[in-house]
Amino acid sequence: MTGIGIALSKGRILEETGPLLARVGLAPKEDPERSRKLIIATARRDVSLVIVRAADTPTYVAHGAADLGIAGKDVLAEHGGEGLYQPLDLGIARCRMMVAVKKGFDYAGAVRQGARLRVATKYPLITREFFAGKGVHVDLIRLYGSMELAPIMGLADAIVDLVSSGKTLRANKLAAVEEIMPVSARLIVNQAALKTRRAQLQPLIDAFAKAVQP
Ligand code: ADP
Ligand code: MG
Repeated sequence: MTGIGIALSKGRILEETGPLLARVGLAPKEDPERSRKLIIATARRDVSLVIVRAADTPTYVAHGAADLGIAGKDVLAEHGGEGLYQPLDLGIARCRMMVAVKKGFDYAGAVRQGARLRVATKYPLITREFFAGKGVHVDLIRLYGSMELAPIMGLADAIVDLVSSGKTLRANKLAAVEEIMPVSARLIVNQAALKTRRAQLQPLIDAFAKAVQP
């Protein structure tokens, strides 16, 4: 692809990035949520949006298949961030990565007693590192969605997932018991591309920086 590609995902990230893209002069030419196209033209002829799965965004940018990307800190932490420059917290798609359990489950007690915890998550690396840091043994159960089901169905004692309002947890009789990290979306840039094509990429990064200032 010639020109500049910006990788991002439909759903939460695109929803919250929409106004920002418009302010940077990159309004999409068609609605990515409705179009079946995966490469969407923008108001700038040399810049396209590349629609990927949220967890794939760092991969596209790290390999240079897209020059820039917009990804949650959750996804970046799980990826590791190698080959990526992360110049800007966009301050959008804010939530928190939390440990949650079924209401009534004595999480603090289980941790204190050194019990082995069964933890379901789509963030295995973050989860492993977090509990290792606490000295808690975990059996990781890798899921791809609907994490809230796992404790209810007896698949896990705890989940590690993103929480914003807490409504989904409450609706499923779960309670958040510990925060792992605050999460928001970041602009990411391919490190090599930034070196070799700085004249092309830096003005765009600067435009994003200006657009996020309150
Ligand atoms: P997927 O379900 O494919 O992971 P989502 O659109 O649900 O895609 O999530 C994409 C990104 O949006 C996440 O990686 C995270 O950074 C952010 N996000 C997810 N859930 C929330 C939420 N409840 N509040 C704010 N941001 C969120
Ligand atoms: Mg989701």
